[in-house]
Amino acid sequence: MSAKRETILSGIRPTGRLHYGNYFGAVRHFLRLQEEDRATCYYFIADYHALTTVTDRQDLYGNTLEMLRTYVACGLDPRKSVIYRQSDLPCTAELSLLLGMITNIGLLERGTTYKDKLSKLREDPKAEGNPLSYGLLGYPVLMAADILIVKADIVPVGEDQRQHLEMAIDLATRFNSRFGETFHVPRPISRDALRLPGLDGAAKMGKSDHNTLDLLDDPATVLKKIKAVPTTTEPAPLDTDSTDADTVIPKMPAGVGVLYRLLDLLAPREVFLEFLEEYRKGGKFYGNLKKAAAEHCSKFNDPIIARYNDPANSAAAVEEFLRENARRVTPVALETVEAVRAAMGIGHSLYRA
Ligand code: ATP
Ligand code: MG
Repeated sequence: MSAKRETILSGIRPTGRLHYGNYFGAVRHFLRLQEEDRATCYYFIADYHALTTVTDRQDLYGNTLEMLRTYVACGLDPRKSVIYRQSDLPCTAELSLLLGMITNIGLLERGTTYKDKLSKLREDPKAEGNPLSYGLLGYPVLMAADILIVKADIVPVGEDQRQHLEMAIDLATRFNSRFGETFHVPRPISRDALRLPGLDGAAKMGKSDHNTLDLLDDPATVLKKIKAVPTTTEPAPLDTDSTDADTVIPKMPAGVGVLYRLLDLLAPREVFLEFLEEYRKGGKFYGNLKKAAAEHCSKFNDPIIARYNDPANSAAAVEEFLRENARRVTPVALETVEAVRAAMGIGHSLYRA
């Protein structure tokens, strides 16, 4: 008898274009898991979740399709991974409601996303645009439903999501001890901790910070953005002979550090070492450094842009695999929800079952 193949689950928010921070902080990890093939990867587009930060009507559906075309262009393969849309499993909302019945509000009020928003609103009630919603407070419950509904075994998380995942594990465990073994309890794995700085030298590249280099930027845009990276004329001394990127980059001025990080991620090692040598010598080399960084970024973007525009990767093609996967995942999801209904005592759905 062969052991059941494990499933890995990750959610992706359908907001905006993908940038280098997203790629090196998340997508790269998704691709590695897909290629390792030690478990089946489930990737879902969290469109319900996106509604917690939407302030006015946005084309979430259009964004979802665009994002997925970019993911596919990066190498996410709908033949290898199961890619589906959260809202195509509306029974996730039902599970979230049922889980909500056993969720303590005190626990949710300790949620980091909720607390961050609350403190921002206290500083400036108008700053955020949208109110503190029931949906945002309940975000960890919906996330628990996402994970539990497909009986995920492994959930990779960055530091920012760890607390939410722990809440999900806690909810599932408490449910099982109160109503009997119903949920399959997942285990977390940590994700690569790389945090890419912004092109403006800020600690983090981020969509809302408008300091991103995007995967679909054409060579002219890449060059323009990289040329605008702030570089000082006098580089600070490194105080070390190390050639290790993680040791030397933090010692550089922020903007310069970003350029070296891009070389470290994309260029052959010799190129990084050559420019490190230049840095130590001092002098005027930033023009060349920027040119080299821009070239390597464009070289990285080229095939992604080509695959993005490939007719086989149309919005219609994306819709096709989304539809197919919604059909594939629905029976598992319904099985979970029906088990939960039965365990809680309201019994199976007479219409659906
Ligand atoms: P926003 O500014 O709206 O929060 P974002 O640019 O931070 O957007 P998200 O959609 O929040 O992007 O993040 C998508 C994924 O990319 C997450 O897994 C997040 O941890 C990762 N990520 C985002 N920015 C970076 C970055 N600069 N370095 C590493 N990982 C990042
Ligand atoms: Mg973010």
